[in-house]
Amino acid sequence: MFSTASIARFNQLETPFYYYNLQLLQQTLEACLQAARQHQFHVHYALKANFNSKVLQAIQAAGMGADCVSGNEVKAAIAHGFDKGKVVFAGVGKSDREINAALDADIFCFNVESVQELEVINELAAAKDKTAQVAIRINPNVDAHTHHYITTGLEENKFGINTWQLDEVVATLKTSANLKFAGLHFHVGSQITNLEVFKNLCLRVNELSEWFEQQQMPVRVLNVGGGLGVDYYQPDTNNICDFEGYFNVFKQYLKVKAGQEVHFELGRALVAQSASLISRVLYVKNGRKKNFLVLDAGMTELIRPMLYQAYHHIENISRQQNEDTATVNYDVVGPICESTDCFRTGVALPQSKRGDLIAVRTAGAYGEVMASGYNLRDHVQSVYSVEQEQEVM
Ligand SMILES: *Cc1c(COP(=O)(O)O)cnc(C)c1O
Repeated sequence: MFSTASIARFNQLETPFYYYNLQLLQQTLEACLQAARQHQFHVHYALKANFNSKVLQAIQAAGMGADCVSGNEVKAAIAHGFDKGKVVFAGVGKSDREINAALDADIFCFNVESVQELEVINELAAAKDKTAQVAIRINPNVDAHTHHYITTGLEENKFGINTWQLDEVVATLKTSANLKFAGLHFHVGSQITNLEVFKNLCLRVNELSEWFEQQQMPVRVLNVGGGLGVDYYQPDTNNICDFEGYFNVFKQYLKVKAGQEVHFELGRALVAQSASLISRVLYVKNGRKKNFLVLDAGMTELIRPMLYQAYHHIENISRQQNEDTATVNYDVVGPICESTDCFRTGVALPQSKRGDLIAVRTAGAYGEVMASGYNLRDHVQSVYSVEQEQEVM
């Protein structure tokens, strides 16, 4: 829900834009860190979910580490003041240039996704006379029970090292003078709402960590990745994730030995609810079979519905419930010249008019970061909440 003050401000602004509720972001970060501290868990923020500068500043100030998936994300994290000793670098296709930059930045750890990558990092580190800390990203073959487009931890996925290659990994680690084994890394998927998935992950991590210890490879870091899902259907009543419930699963099922650290890499759960995409109705097209609301925002601003068939709650914030308007089912579409440029079909909204403001909620994760210039569109703007607008929650 938006306060009348916010809506009044939106009416003065050019659309489309991302509206960031920085107070909600702050509350979410605090809730997460407070829950993590109870178990001495370490939290890294996955920059790929949102690398908006104001968002990064807030997360850095809260004291989280950074989980990066490109050389530029490593640079952005460090430029925003993230402690380099808390920066990890994952990704299935790190280029030599990116690895060299991360070595120069003395980051905490590379999360390595293949034996060949281990060899390359060892070579590049040797050329700089450095030692690179590495964690092995293992594909645990755990089903995330999420959309197949965002599942990463099954054997058919490109991510991580499969368990039958672990002998080779250990042999490579033992003969690579410029690598230091830090521990194990996992990330099984995104938008996971069934906590049973994380329990299954813990059980696999316990087995694998035991196996490494048996090979005389002490595991210091257990990095269990991210993936905690958010409520896209009820963004107002459920605006902060149950971080306690999430961390408790790991507390309960993960075997943590003395001296071992548990690391998390959360993206979506920290930022998704803190932003909405605000746009205007350009045209209302009433057809024989369908009614269309044509917005001034589309897949170039928020591609999740088109890319992942993702659900976002859509509201007409110019006409809130109490008004005595009829409800119409609209296909809410963007202006881009692609038939897939549709946020959702059959959205029940109060009868809408040209110029009405439409909010697409829960757009803080994988929203602005995926904006594109297709159709030579302008880059989407960002607007930030100010104290007086404290949203109704
Ligand atoms: C994307 C990603 C994350 C964050 O995932 P969320 O679902 O946004 O929490 C964490 N770790 C790695 C390696 C990732 O690629």
